[in-house]
Amino acid sequence: MQTLKEVTIGNLGFPRIGRQRELKFAQEKYWRGEITQAELAQVAKDLRSTHWEWQAKAGVELLPVGDFAYYDQVLTLSATLNAIPERHRGEEQADRVDLDTLFRVARGRAPTGGDAPAAEMTKYFNTNYHYIVPELEADQSFTVAYEQIFDEVSEAQALGYRAKPVLLGPVSYLYLAKAVGGEFDKLTLLPALLKAYKAILERFAAQGVEWIQLEEPTLALELDSDWQEAIVSAYEALQHVDIKVLLATYYGTIAHHQALVSALPVAGLHLDLVTAPEQLAGFAANLQREQVLSLGVINGRNVWAADIDSIADRIAPVVNDLKGRVWIAPSCSLLHTPVDLDVEAELAPALKQQLSFAKQKLSELAQLKRLLTTPEKSGDRVEIDLIKDTCVSRRNARAEAADRQVNSRVAALSRDDYERDTVFAGRQTLQQQKYRLPLLPTTTIGSFPQTPAIRGLRSRWRKGEITETFYTDQLRQVTKDTVERQLKLGIDVLVHGEAERNDMVEYFGEQLQGVGFTQFGWVQSYGSRCVKPPLIYGDVSRPKPMTVDWAAYAQSLTDKPVKGMLTGPVTILHWSFAREDISREQIATQIGLAIRDEVVDLQNAGIGIIQIDEPAFREGLPLKRSGWDTYLKWAVDAFKLSAAGVDDETQIHTHMCYSEFNETIKAIAAMDADVITIETSRSRMELLTAFEDFEYPNEIGPGVYDIHTPNTPTVDEMVTLIEKAAHKIPLRQLWVNPDCGLKTRTWDEVEPALQNLVQATKVLRRRLG
Ligand code: GLN
Ligand code: ZN
Repeated sequence: MQTLKEVTIGNLGFPRIGRQRELKFAQEKYWRGEITQAELAQVAKDLRSTHWEWQAKAGVELLPVGDFAYYDQVLTLSATLNAIPERHRGEEQADRVDLDTLFRVARGRAPTGGDAPAAEMTKYFNTNYHYIVPELEADQSFTVAYEQIFDEVSEAQALGYRAKPVLLGPVSYLYLAKAVGGEFDKLTLLPALLKAYKAILERFAAQGVEWIQLEEPTLALELDSDWQEAIVSAYEALQHVDIKVLLATYYGTIAHHQALVSALPVAGLHLDLVTAPEQLAGFAANLQREQVLSLGVINGRNVWAADIDSIADRIAPVVNDLKGRVWIAPSCSLLHTPVDLDVEAELAPALKQQLSFAKQKLSELAQLKRLLTTPEKSGDRVEIDLIKDTCVSRRNARAEAADRQVNSRVAALSRDDYERDTVFAGRQTLQQQKYRLPLLPTTTIGSFPQTPAIRGLRSRWRKGEITETFYTDQLRQVTKDTVERQLKLGIDVLVHGEAERNDMVEYFGEQLQGVGFTQFGWVQSYGSRCVKPPLIYGDVSRPKPMTVDWAAYAQSLTDKPVKGMLTGPVTILHWSFAREDISREQIATQIGLAIRDEVVDLQNAGIGIIQIDEPAFREGLPLKRSGWDTYLKWAVDAFKLSAAGVDDETQIHTHMCYSEFNETIKAIAAMDADVITIETSRSRMELLTAFEDFEYPNEIGPGVYDIHTPNTPTVDEMVTLIEKAAHKIPLRQLWVNPDCGLKTRTWDEVEPALQNLVQATKVLRRRLG
């Protein structure tokens, strides 16, 4: 066996999509039947080989294998374990799984086999990556049924690489799974699962694999004692295979489990030292003899160039103490970063020099290794000085870019700036007098169908094929049409329809100072879907109105109120790559002020009802409960700051399209929006209970139209839902609206659904009013 050098460069995983999203395009072609499975496999193979080559060139010694997935790595693992829902099984034998089966689990359909409802998908911890939730039954068995990862190990070895398979660990796999077919304790499945993991590890050992990475991100949570015990029994069981286990943790500190983790019989431990640098000392001091410590020091979840020289200073003592047992690595898999900065030809140089994508992060590790291992008096010092100088000049550039106006405005804020003039009850009376809305006012959440015509216009405009004036004129036509349709439907509070917006965060990002965009900075969100988050690189401000013309134009067409439509500060922050030299709270405050300027301008332009969307509000909750209060405090404040600049008669709405409010209802109430609209139709109003129990004082629009399906809800269905809501919430507080925006639907679907919605409301006004 080769001996590892004094500091070893490690990597947990590399993005699979390819720098031009090659995987996405191949997947989608395969699903449409335009290429064969062999052609898809070739694209995948080429991507893996390119990505391994980049990593090897940067000096990564053990190459991650299994970070590639045709859809999602958790799903690949379910396939490997033969934990596939019966409804998705295809023609293959019961102890085998094939690629189309995988796609049926993920998408409900594949080029072969029958359709069946897809498995659930949900966010992987606190990231924007979505995994396919494994469905496990009480008598679930596990066998090794899918060969992909073993084939990839052979593939890497054939290319001359040392392969390190990477897998989600057994305890986190169980934790993320869903018990189906009746309630049971998932931990009862652990012994059977461990047998299958052992079989997998033995296969790897037989392939000549030395190290395997097992990831247990659940350790970043506050685990109950039975889950803690599961970790112990899992790694005790797996120690008997002749393979070295690197236990990888990420997304937060695991210091609260330090004693437990330090005692585990594993060959190596990986820590996320970006989110939790403070946990290093405790784990280093308790490292077992011969155990390896992998230091996750390069941020795997953000796009900024690392301050390599300060990282080197920070970890040098540990590197010296642990002589040869230190690995340096990104904090987590690079899955969450875009692939390659080199392809960004249009970025401003000042911004580009602050950035580092997955491929560049590998170079950062190589540079860090050089800083750590180059002797004081050596010819290589010139290069070392260069690395350090770059770090210093980046820091200086950031400091110089500070926007004094923004900073002094933030510094001058007082508590008054966060509060409306009058408490809700008083505002409600004034607003009722002003708008004279009927009982159960009807409204929508903002967007209306983004038709192929609208998307075509936008793409021609972006390519410069049509003029700005032509584009705007056309969209005004669309807006007018949207307003007329709402009038005909008889909706009470209208919207302009958001035809001019492609994405609710991108639209604002492009108009805000301090926010930038890449051309190819894509990150996988789920399956073949990628997102390109804005980069919040500087102090944020709003140079000029962003939405006022659209809202004012729509308002000019009708006497009914038109609701202005904005994205809130917390959502803009969460769906961007945010700078790290100031706190998230500070960034949210800056964005809050920018949105506040827009809110005030809308009011002054005659828009009396303004919605500030916060669909990502809940996503920001820290993994650990103990961090919730701090987060909620500043997130609520950022929203309030954005909303509180208006007069009492101006009605502020917010919208959140999920309905898990039990634990956050106090914070939701503290936001003090005059009206909140939420998604409740799927849960059949169950989730309104949080508002009922809390006696939520402001107005609420529980969604009665599930916009995620093409189906038309009937009048009766919606009457039932509104009645259910009326049992929980006083009638005078209730609004009637869909669950969320309608941009993904067609007019053919939307019009009859809204007709029924208005009809249902009329029925109830007669019955209850
Ligand atoms: N106003 C946005 C829309 O209607 C809200 C979208 C969202 O909640 N994600 O599309
Ligand atoms: Zn929504």
